[in-house]
Amino acid sequence: MSVRPLDGRHRTIVRLGHPALRQVAEPVPAERFGTRFLRDLERDLLRTMFEDNGVGLAAPQIAAGVRVFAYFVPGEGDEDEVAPRVLVNPTLTLLGEPTELGWEGCLSVPGLRGLVARHPGVKVAAFDPDGVPLAFEATGFHARVIQHECDHLDGIVFLDRMPGMASLMFEEEWDRYATDRELPVEV
Ligand SMILES: [Zn+2]
Repeated sequence: MSVRPLDGRHRTIVRLGHPALRQVAEPVPAERFGTRFLRDLERDLLRTMFEDNGVGLAAPQIAAGVRVFAYFVPGEGDEDEVAPRVLVNPTLTLLGEPTELGWEGCLSVPGLRGLVARHPGVKVAAFDPDGVPLAFEATGFHARVIQHECDHLDGIVFLDRMPGMASLMFEEEWDRYATDRELPVEV
């Protein structure tokens, strides 16, 4: 990939309560593909995601109201690695039922983790920042990250997707007491 993640600027991640997290983000118009605007946003999202130790970061989390997010899959356990990338104007086709429970956290909801029900797979259609169309399927952790990030583009946070609040924990308590721990999605 052409982007060197540390080229960008570190941006402040807004937290729950900031109105940007509850707004529906606007699609990027075709004439903005390949422009300085998207290249800067791409670099800023990647840099901020890495420096704040996330595996994903959506534009609304830095108070930019456009349908763009960055993510990667570290490739631990039996998950295939996905290199850091930025998706623009993604649309999802959800596969299966939203029955897969997994731990999630969010850089905009710092300190908390909870069990969230997600679809086991997604079909993704999107563009890269230059406007090149992308189409692929994702499952498991990869599908979970994408569902979490696409929710941010619609003003939804992981708390809204929890089937109940009983699993909500602070990170320190999660480290001590959570059972069935797997790598949490921290996005
Ligand atoms: Zn998040």
